[in-house]
Amino acid sequence: MQIKIDSDALMTDLANLAKIGRGADGGITRRALSAEDRDARDYVIARMRWVGLQVRHDEVGNVRARRADDWGNTNPSVMTGSHLDSVPSGGRLDGPLGVVGAVAALDALGRAKVACKRPLEVVIFVGEEGSRFPRGTIGSAAISGFRSVAEIYALIDPEGVSFASALKTYADRGQPMEARVETGSIYAFVELHVEQGGVLEAARVPIGVVTAIAGLVQRQVTFIGVANHAGATPMAIRKDALTRAAEWVLAIEQAAHKIGSGVVATVGQFEVFPGGKNIIPGRVEAICDLRAPTKELLDAVDKEVMATLAASKRDIAVDERLLQRVEPGPMHERAMTAIERTSSSAGLKSQRMLSGAIHDALHIAEIAPSSMIFVPSIGGKSHCPDEDTAPEHLVQGCEVLARTLADLANS
Ligand SMILES: [Zn+2]
Repeated sequence: MQIKIDSDALMTDLANLAKIGRGADGGITRRALSAEDRDARDYVIARMRWVGLQVRHDEVGNVRARRADDWGNTNPSVMTGSHLDSVPSGGRLDGPLGVVGAVAALDALGRAKVACKRPLEVVIFVGEEGSRFPRGTIGSAAISGFRSVAEIYALIDPEGVSFASALKTYADRGQPMEARVETGSIYAFVELHVEQGGVLEAARVPIGVVTAIAGLVQRQVTFIGVANHAGATPMAIRKDALTRAAEWVLAIEQAAHKIGSGVVATVGQFEVFPGGKNIIPGRVEAICDLRAPTKELLDAVDKEVMATLAASKRDIAVDERLLQRVEPGPMHERAMTAIERTSSSAGLKSQRMLSGAIHDALHIAEIAPSSMIFVPSIGGKSHCPDEDTAPEHLVQGCEVLARTLADLANS
């Protein structure tokens, strides 16, 4: 099979999208359902039409595109896509690569006249990043049925604007299709994405095959001691909330090391009160973020972290609250082996790996055999203006995507 990605068009599309919402620091800010998000979506819709796709949208603002005659094909579809919204001052590839890469892949398959038994579909998922509404992966959660449309419409942003009212100015063309897709109506889903870490770069492997998307537990913990004079209070009678919290932070790190198997644990938010240089800390507020590739490992690290909260000899009160838990998403052999097969037929090395970050594929995996294609991130950087991937890796990722879609559509 001769597949030739139009690399000029791919680079132009990525460069044009990077102009939408770009700030003074070069970072890109496209909050879900914002004017910038809509401009990016409209740009891609025009590109979709240019390569011969017929574009629809659903009731939560996902865009779904197929070749016109594929809308009438009742076979289970082979779906691909990603998102166009971003974190504040994010990179140019996180999301857009999987969207314009999908358009480039379908374009290449069309030009190569590759016949597909199953219909191919490209999706632009709405609101993946969670940087406006208090939930991420909104569009994919609606498609899988993980969240109801009513629940999504009721989400409120920090300015008090509901998802439903933001959507009115966003997805304003024609009658939307139902968001929810039945289990069994997607034969396979594959998302192309930048790795956002340094594993592939270090291994000098161009293609990552995602085996699971790590699950997540976030807990907010408050340590309550007694604020007092740093000079006049003897060591023996202090109730220092910070030393207790510090013990816990180190115990979390040790727990992740001890369990291993891809488990990571972080305390990224940590505030000391009242925060005076001559005052013993009376209170500390911290959030821990625990991630693991399987439910068992997530339970294990969470249990360990809770045990370290209870274990201290220090007389400090602890108040703990679960902020969120997202179950890990195992990927499917059908999609993983297709990516491996087509990587090797394209002459490219691939390796299986875990995704530490959450993606829309997590929800689609609830209803369809899914996996992701990762391409190397330069310096492992993402969610920042420096996020980048070598042009040849971008094109290779698109080529593997195109071949994988054709493989799955005819297997
Ligand atoms: Zn992303």
